[in-house]
Amino acid sequence: MAEKVLVVDDSREIRAFLADYILKPKGYEIVMAENGLEGLEMVLAEKPDLMIVDNQMPKMGGIQLLRVLRERNIGLPAILTTAFGSEETAVEAFRLGVRDYVIKPFDVEEIETSVERALRESRLEHERDQLMDQLMQTNSQLERQVQELNTIYSIGKSVSSSLDLQQVLHRVVEAAVYITKAEEGFLMLTDEEQGELYIRASKNLDQETQSMRLRIQDSLAGQVIATNRPVVLTDDEHWKKIKTSYLVKSLIYIPLASQDQPIGVLGVVNRLKATQFERRDTRVLTMLSDYAALAIRNAHLFAQSDTERNKLGTILGQTNDPVLVIGEESELVLANQAARLALQLPEGNLVGRPLAELIQGEDTLELLSQPAGKNFSRRGEITVNDGRIFNVNMTLIEGVGRSVVMRDITQLKELDRLKSEFVSVVSHDLRSPLTSILGYIELLQRAGSLNDTQKEFVGRVRSSVTSITSLITDLLDLGRIEAGLDLSLSRCSLAEIMLEIIEQQQLSIQNKGLNLELNFPEQDLTVIGDRNRLHQAFSNLISNAIKYTPTGGKIGVRVHGHDGQMILQVSDTGVGISPADQPYIFDKFYRAETVTEKFEGTGLGLSIVKSVVERHDGRIWVTSEPGKGTIFTVVLPTAVAPPASSTETRPSASTPTKNN
Ligand code: ADP
Repeated sequence: MAEKVLVVDDSREIRAFLADYILKPKGYEIVMAENGLEGLEMVLAEKPDLMIVDNQMPKMGGIQLLRVLRERNIGLPAILTTAFGSEETAVEAFRLGVRDYVIKPFDVEEIETSVERALRESRLEHERDQLMDQLMQTNSQLERQVQELNTIYSIGKSVSSSLDLQQVLHRVVEAAVYITKAEEGFLMLTDEEQGELYIRASKNLDQETQSMRLRIQDSLAGQVIATNRPVVLTDDEHWKKIKTSYLVKSLIYIPLASQDQPIGVLGVVNRLKATQFERRDTRVLTMLSDYAALAIRNAHLFAQSDTERNKLGTILGQTNDPVLVIGEESELVLANQAARLALQLPEGNLVGRPLAELIQGEDTLELLSQPAGKNFSRRGEITVNDGRIFNVNMTLIEGVGRSVVMRDITQLKELDRLKSEFVSVVSHDLRSPLTSILGYIELLQRAGSLNDTQKEFVGRVRSSVTSITSLITDLLDLGRIEAGLDLSLSRCSLAEIMLEIIEQQQLSIQNKGLNLELNFPEQDLTVIGDRNRLHQAFSNLISNAIKYTPTGGKIGVRVHGHDGQMILQVSDTGVGISPADQPYIFDKFYRAETVTEKFEGTGLGLSIVKSVVERHDGRIWVTSEPGKGTIFTVVLPTAVAPPASSTETRPSASTPTKNN
């Protein structure tokens, strides 16, 4: 569109000159006025882009006109022409914002340049103003979006941090109303049983509407649920009926879905105002409805896990066996009622308290403070204050710590004691008649000559009596060791004992063609213990290794000190022990089924070894693979200082046993 120039001059010639020679050829549109007053009217009516105004005119001169325009805040670019140029007028003119000041008579080129420059400047200004406007608009839009995002962010945060569903849903509806500038808002959920929708949270709804229920079948909200698509109604002319008593002018309904299952509708409505909703509103509301659905799902999940936890709590509470969960820092995570009673834990909430503060017995604390291993559970026995004995089984719970299940074995222990007592009494009473049988067998041979058959029979009787005697000796020994009787302690060199045993069994080793490998370091390998019992125990280990290793196999004995402990290992390349048998081989009379036919034995050897080792505050365990071989490892405390007297008798008090 052509730019419009207003020429205000009382001289017709000048007006014609400017119009015909200067402005028209350049294609500008021209409007004219004869004096300032007329000029003012034209400015208001025509809104020109530029004004060329003469200073000296009747009624109202150029400067005067410029002043009036300035007062009225009309910023029209102007060129002032004057016949008598004075410095004062020039200063005043520029103060009033004229673009140029031209003295008459002016030549064509001068006025042309001046007009063009003024228009160019004003074009630039115009563009700048437009840009400014745009910028302001964008700015305010951005501000609004930031505000919306903030609102949505804070809702997101409350969804993930708050467990109060009512509060979260209320915030969602509040935000929906705030962002869309709607009058009212609500969140409806489906009641599947009734086939209805009810209001779960709302903003600005009156009491009556809050309790409104809609049929899913034939309501607009039901339709939104069925199609899983938003609905926007913004025709302000007509009322829309949500319910007979509830008419609105415009509304947005957004479906609410949890895991693709429709569960309700988020709605905002205007009942009075004829405001239109914007397209953006739907998008923001969709985000909010997603949050609401998430909050509802979270609440369901939480309620579910809460129920499960309560169930588990009830089960644990009613379990008679004490159960504990201990954290990685040896702090209490959980203790059922039975555990509280057994360990006499204080009343109140103990979660997070260190075990050291809660557990009374030193042995119990030591056992419970040990970490459980990855592939094995740690076992042990503890005696609690009321005298009951518990078997403790600790299992690793990755990321949590360890679970501890305790089983009352007081009665079993008592039975075991009675059994040992019985065995020891009976075996003692058996030994005397056996001794006299052996004696008479000797005498029989001296009493007169026997024929070959008689000699053979006597030989068989002697061998049977000898094996019964050794069985009974073992039983008696076991009884004495278990009772802790007759332990005679002194400093003993393990290397010495081992060499002695090997010396004694050299013949059997040679007979079977076994390869023997000894590994003793230079250092002093002493422990404080009963030399005879240690000899007996290690001798049992070595004779087992010989017995259970086929001809041509290998046997190893290794002794070394480590970290204040003596470690002794007897290994062989024999038949091995199946994992199913391993837990029981230290029990009295237990023999692996696979060996009973091929090898002679009583099943007492390892029970004696274990008892002796435990009497010396040591531990023993086995690692074995069937068909490949077996390693027995014994750990004993190293002798620190010579005992007060070279021989002393251990008290018979039972110490807690520790197994792996
Ligand atoms: P036994 O008189 O049967 O040898 P032990 O108490 O010494 O009784 O051993 C118990 C069981 O452990 C044995 O019957 C055998 O099954 C197993 N056992 C012990 N030592 C070994 C070994 N070195 N190799 C294989 N099996 C062994």
